[in-house]
Amino acid sequence: MGRKKANKGSSSSGNSNSNDTNNGILNEQVTKMRVDENGVEEMDENSALDSCAEPPETIIGNDHTSADYYFDSYSHFGIHEEMLKDTVRTKTYQNVIYQNKFLFKDKVVLDVGAGTGILSLFCAKAGAKHVYAVECSLMADMAKEIVQVNGYADVITVLKGKVEEIVLPVPHVDIIISEWMGYFLLFENMLNTVLYARDKWLITDGIVLPDKASLYLTAIEDSEYKEDKIEFWNNVYGFNMSCIKKQSMMEPLIDTVDQNQIVTNCHLLKTMDISNMTSGDAAFTAPFKLVAERNDYIHALVAYFDVSFTKCHKFMGFSTGPRSRGTHWKQTVLYLEDVLTICEGEELVGSMTVSPNKKNARDVDIVLQYSLTGQRCRVSRTQHYKMR
Ligand code: SAH
Repeated sequence: MGRKKANKGSSSSGNSNSNDTNNGILNEQVTKMRVDENGVEEMDENSALDSCAEPPETIIGNDHTSADYYFDSYSHFGIHEEMLKDTVRTKTYQNVIYQNKFLFKDKVVLDVGAGTGILSLFCAKAGAKHVYAVECSLMADMAKEIVQVNGYADVITVLKGKVEEIVLPVPHVDIIISEWMGYFLLFENMLNTVLYARDKWLITDGIVLPDKASLYLTAIEDSEYKEDKIEFWNNVYGFNMSCIKKQSMMEPLIDTVDQNQIVTNCHLLKTMDISNMTSGDAAFTAPFKLVAERNDYIHALVAYFDVSFTKCHKFMGFSTGPRSRGTHWKQTVLYLEDVLTICEGEELVGSMTVSPNKKNARDVDIVLQYSLTGQRCRVSRTQHYKMR
């Protein structure tokens, strides 16, 4: 999945030639205003971002209003179109399933967050005995129709509702498949839903697909976009708006980074073992050491993730890194207060702390501590970021 609920793709500046579409999904602020017009006075942050929250009005047929999509952006086809057209993402799942039919033959599969039902269809076609496709958004109705039209109604059962609330007709499943990854891997916190399903229904030696996810960090030269996105606020038509600069610094930017901007090595921050981890493991502090590969300036750190399917006959997976083919997750750019002047071989060391926001568990808080003791630059600083 991927994405800022009700805001997918709208936070990008287009660092390189990223091709952003909003797919008709309203961004948070616009929708908030519309909701206000509709007379909803206050909104609970959690439910506002919860794709499974009840829409505020009764929905008749397909007559959805923007307010409905505010509460439930996954009900709109646009977000699914973007995910399906992310061929790195969807083709990897397809290859994993079609090229490893031995995993699926006569097995009962649970598709956590089925969306259009695409992963369930792949599994059914690969020979699964039965697939339970759980989807909480209104897209579940489409999934039912899609399953029917494609002749899989006897193999795939679509269950409309939250994974945490539905009654599964069987006590156990052999396989859990899900595409739960958000921006910066952990944004939206759907991983928790997968872990919940795993603990409730997966047989002891059952498998989770994907079963590994890793988060990486690197450093980039990014003067042009730091100027455009951050320093912009210093002087806006001659006025000092630098109070907004502080806020913009705190918000990681979802954007495509050109691999030529990379100044240091890429450091593996954390690997998550989806088969064994607990939800608490998604909050962590990890040290890093980034070694400059050339003399350059560093304006930002960049985080990205990869996922892998280690139970396949041959290794399979994909990366969302700047050296890999682009995906709709792009990369996550964290701008630094100072411009670091770094010489080849010098080390930028520090740690990154990642945790779900206490008020809204779908948001992610990031604390970055870093220091550089170089020939030309000495800096030691702690910065706070919030993904929302
Ligand atoms: N599997 C589809 C969709 C992935 S997006 C595909 O690969 O294209 C993730 C989906 O999970 C969204 O449609 C979202 O509505 C659904 N989802 C998120 N949390 C859920 C929950 N707790 N219970 C059921 N569905 C959930």
